[in-house]
Amino acid sequence: MCGIVGIYNHEEAATLTYLGLYALQHRGQEGAGIASFDGKVSHLQKGKGLVADVFVSREQLMRLSGKTAIGHVRYSTYGSNGSENIQPLAFKYKGSQISIVHNGNLINLDEIGRDLESHGALFQTTSDTEYIIHLFAHSGGDSLVEKFLQVFRRIRGAFSVLILFDNKMIVARDHRGFRPLCIGTLDGSYIFASETCALDLIGATYERDVKPGEMIVLDGTDVKSYQIAPPEPKHCIFEYVYFSRPDSQIFGEYVDKTRRKLGKILAMEKPAPEAEIVISVPDSSNTIALGYSQRSTARFEIALIRNHYIGRTFIHPTQTMRDFTAKIKFNPVGGVLKDRKIVVVDDSIVRGTTLRKLARMLRSAGAKEIHIRIGSPPVKFPCYYGMDFPSHEELIANQKSITEIKDYLEVDSLEYISPEGLLNAMSLPAENFCTACFTGHYCEKINQEKENSC
Ligand code: AMP
Repeated sequence: MCGIVGIYNHEEAATLTYLGLYALQHRGQEGAGIASFDGKVSHLQKGKGLVADVFVSREQLMRLSGKTAIGHVRYSTYGSNGSENIQPLAFKYKGSQISIVHNGNLINLDEIGRDLESHGALFQTTSDTEYIIHLFAHSGGDSLVEKFLQVFRRIRGAFSVLILFDNKMIVARDHRGFRPLCIGTLDGSYIFASETCALDLIGATYERDVKPGEMIVLDGTDVKSYQIAPPEPKHCIFEYVYFSRPDSQIFGEYVDKTRRKLGKILAMEKPAPEAEIVISVPDSSNTIALGYSQRSTARFEIALIRNHYIGRTFIHPTQTMRDFTAKIKFNPVGGVLKDRKIVVVDDSIVRGTTLRKLARMLRSAGAKEIHIRIGSPPVKFPCYYGMDFPSHEELIANQKSITEIKDYLEVDSLEYISPEGLLNAMSLPAENFCTACFTGHYCEKINQEKENSC
């Protein structure tokens, strides 16, 4: 997961990057940072927490001077919350200053790591992003372009990357286009962002996506595009299901439109004729639930209120206290639920803990029947390309049948959208998507466990 933004050649580069990161906060809450280059020197500010925790004064932004900047919000992945992994990562190389931000996971680190270490590389982080710069330093090409092309042809897996190399910016996306990356313009400057909602916030115009397998080098007024490898798109379908914001356009389609379609297909495939109302688990399933209600006799109601201001909670993990973790986030609206038969639409079930707690909460608020409908097929397999899914054992659908999950959730019925239904909601043909978390069909051989990255 994670979100990235870059601004090339704008007087307010750092401030615009900071605003862009706010729009991408949903992609990562563990850490945030911005690096800028002022023509001579690079500047860096980063830290743990939300954008608002890391950037607390105007002076901090003022210190990030220069007309180019890149920024990052980091998602907390298992075992990788050390501050050394917060991006941008900064390096010095033969008198040049380099900073990098990366969204995605690389999958051939074992092989690259062995090679780099045998040539004396010393790693300062446990993040795969650092490998990119080490590979650059060890690469044999004559020019900057050749060297980076070599690097991006050597690494495998998911990468949407922005690099500040003195006053140049290098932008790259893997040939599968796993993670989104768009290009916008503002006042003659270039903006790169994980999602178009970041362009909207700063008033930039969306131009196009960085193509899968494309590398762009910006050097003054010179903007050149290169092909790393021929595109073979395998976009992460889970970006549409859960991760991206509904107001963003990714992989050529609006997320909102796709989620509504998911809801409509789900209602047609898995109706709940007995239900009187449809409710969502806010915010991620709002639009799926709305779509569901449009193809159902049950009307859409808002029955779970989400507290948006909790940030991080520090609750002692005893069982009694654990029950508060759902309650602090959601509170049911008793008047809407009492004595009603309800359909609860959620985007996905990962471990199943959230829905189990919510179902109990809805039951104690008076719901008479609870029918769960899920806008994605059962998540059975880990993701090696940057979606933070736990190991096989922790994924409930890998361990239990749908009937067993229904019993675990203590609900009256549980149904998932079919894999065909999910693909039918997409504007692009099925072969353009990675659906490995549902099918276990990874598009490349995976020979290692997930690395610390985003
Ligand atoms: P749970 O089943 O308790 O693990 O939580 C599943 C809920 O978390 C889903 O309904 C999503 O809203 C959200 N979710 C989906 N995918 C992820 C993910 N990779 N990491 C964190 N939360 C997720």
